[in-house]
Order: sequence, then C-alpha cells, then structure tokens
Amino acid sequence: TPKVWILGNGQLGAMLTHASEPLAINVEAIDIVNPDNRVLPMSSNDVVTAEREQWPESSLSLQLSEHPNFINSSVFGLLADRYTQKSLLNELSIDSAPWQLVDDDVSEQVLHHKYGSNVLLKRRTGGYDGKGQHWLKQDSDSVIPADWRNEAIAEQAINFDEEVSLVGVRQANGDCIFYPLTLNLHQDGILIVSIAPLSRLSHLQAQAESMLSSIMNKLDYVGVMAMECFRVGDKLLVNELAPRVHNSGHWTQTGSHIDQFQLHMRALCNLPIPQPKVTFNCAMVNLIGTENDQRWLSLSNAELYWYNKEVRLGRKVGHLNLSIDDITATSNSIDKLKQWLPEQYQTPLEWLRSEIC
Ligand code: ATP
Ligand code: MG
Ligand code: MG
Repeated sequence: TPKVWILGNGQLGAMLTHASEPLAINVEAIDIVNPDNRVLPMSSNDVVTAEREQWPESSLSLQLSEHPNFINSSVFGLLADRYTQKSLLNELSIDSAPWQLVDDDVSEQVLHHKYGSNVLLKRRTGGYDGKGQHWLKQDSDSVIPADWRNEAIAEQAINFDEEVSLVGVRQANGDCIFYPLTLNLHQDGILIVSIAPLSRLSHLQAQAESMLSSIMNKLDYVGVMAMECFRVGDKLLVNELAPRVHNSGHWTQTGSHIDQFQLHMRALCNLPIPQPKVTFNCAMVNLIGTENDQRWLSLSNAELYWYNKEVRLGRKVGHLNLSIDDITATSNSIDKLKQWLPEQYQTPLEWLRSEIC
C-alpha cells in the first residue's frame, strides 16, 4: 500500500498521523525545519501532503515537494502569497476585503483615501497568528515600512459582526463535503475560542459552501481546505484560505464521527467519504503560552490535545475540546477554566458561555 508523507511535523502533522492509525494508513510526518541529509525511501505511488503553507528548501523538503504525487503542489505557492490568493478571489468574484498591492508608488494618503482611516497592511507571505500585520493609522500618521513595498498588500479594515470559518473536503472525483460553519473568536490576531455547530449560523451554510466549492473546483483541489470569513450582516467576505487542516476544525475531533484529519487522509488515499455526522456541539479553547495543567483533565466534558512544544508567550501549545451536551456541565467547566487559565481568557470564556447558554 502507498505511504503518505507529510511535509512538516508540527501539531497538524501529529494529528494527521494519529487520525491515520485506525484506517491503517501508513504515514510519516517529516521535520523540514531541522532537516537532516536522509534519503527518504519513497516509492513512485506514495503520496505527499503538507501541514503548512510554506517551508524552507532543503534536500529533504525537495524530495517531498518534487515528488510526482505531491497532492495540490501548485496550490501551496498560490495561496501562501496573499497577492495571488486575493487575485484568485477577485477572479472568482468572491467577496473579500477590498485590497491592493503595496507597490513602489502608492502613498499612505492614497491608501487612506481608498480604504479609510485605518488600513491593514499584511505581508504577502509568512504571516500567521496575526504576525506580519501592520496597521496604517491616519490619526497617528503611521507610515508604510520601506521594506514592505511589493512584499505586502493593503486591506480595508472590515467592521465585521463576527468571524466564521468553513472546513470542507474535495475528493478526487470532484465531490465536496463540508462541516457546519464554525464561529471563531480571535484575540490579538490569534484564534482563541471556536464553537460549532451553531444553529443561528445555519442560514449562512449554503453561501459559504458555494464559495469554498468554487475555490476548490477552480484549483482542482483534493483534501481538506479551510476558508476564514468575516460575517457582515447576512453576507460573508473571505478573509483567507488555508490549503490544509485548520485550527478552526479541531472541534471535529470531539464533535464528529469523522474528524478533519481523517477526512483529509481519506481524500488523499481516495477512500470513501460519507457526510461526517455531528455527534456533539463543541467548543474548542486554544491553549496559548500556558503551561500544561493536569487539572484540565478533571473536567467532565473536556478532551486535551497537548502539542508537547516549548511554552512561549503567544504560542499555541495545545487545545481543549469541550463537548456541549449538558449546559450545566459546560458552564461548570467554563467556571473552572476561568480560574485556571490566565487573565486573557476571562473575556473569551464569558463570550463562550453567552453563545451556548
Ligand atoms: P492565521 O493564523 O489565521 O493564518 P494570519 O496571521 O494569516 O492568521 P489573518 O487571518 O489575515 O492573519 O488575520 C488575523 C486576524 O486579524 C483575523 O482573524 C481578524 O480577526 C483580523 N483581521 C484580518 N484582516 C482584517 C481586516 N481586513 N479587517 C479587520 N480585521 C482583520
Ligand atoms: Mg493565515
Ligand atoms: Mg487567519
């Protein structure tokens, strides 16, 4: 049987590996951040996927990225660059924040005239968790950093009602299957809490599915893709796309009979995919810059995923999935997490309570 190689061995690679086990899919996640000079024993019918959008070039990463069965190989470069990603959305007439390239000629005044007093500059590549962003504020006369020219796009600030995302899969035969929309709360540009599904979002499901299917069809994509959106009234604007399993889909580990990791592996291996059933309404709480705390395991409705990474300020080091079958139990868990987690969690956890109770 063919083996699946994963470019990258962070938490997404680990969770893809974990999800492959019950299907007896032979899988290996490769560390391409600290590459060695190994020659990978790849065969021509093996399959390659990636858990990240970008990677450093090395003899190890080239063995993976140049394999003829690197699925979606052309998509990574296209979506990893915000300029080509936003161009694709324009081409498909999919709504997103109005934008332009920060080229050599554009001035702060022109950007403020076009997009308003607050304009968000985003590095074309390499940004994640809100890193690589720069607010251009007219009031404080902030300027375009010189080395951001041609390396960034400028976006209109969207005064959104909330953020949602859609995680879906496209199979090799072109069929697309989706989870229900996820509601996402970000803090300082980092996802902190997700909730799914929510009945109050169901009227947006068809709109979101039609946007993401047209994107995946255009790219002839195979596997799981995530689409982050701003909700403005009843309209969705795409914020960004991720050609991989996604943090806002982690709730499916607890809340669905097929999680997003297994969904991706099934698509890569051309295995049957029924519509995933939602078994629990869930909340996902990202553990950011905080030490592992065994008390979390005492919560009656929590599942812990600890990534075993060095704890650093602002770094995602794990997540907790809370199943919401019993409102009282969930509310008790929220009370306890408010005591055990740092100050920054107080508001997001109260927000969670207000959404589900
Ligand atoms: P990720 O970790 O999801 O890949 P990222 O660093 O690639 O994040 P974005 O998703 O583009 O960055 O932005 C991070 C967050 O910043 C968004 O989830 C949203 O809360 C806010 N944001 C981004 N673009 C805009 C915008 N045009 N207007 C208002 N807020 C925005
Ligand atoms: Mg991003
Ligand atoms: Mg994002």
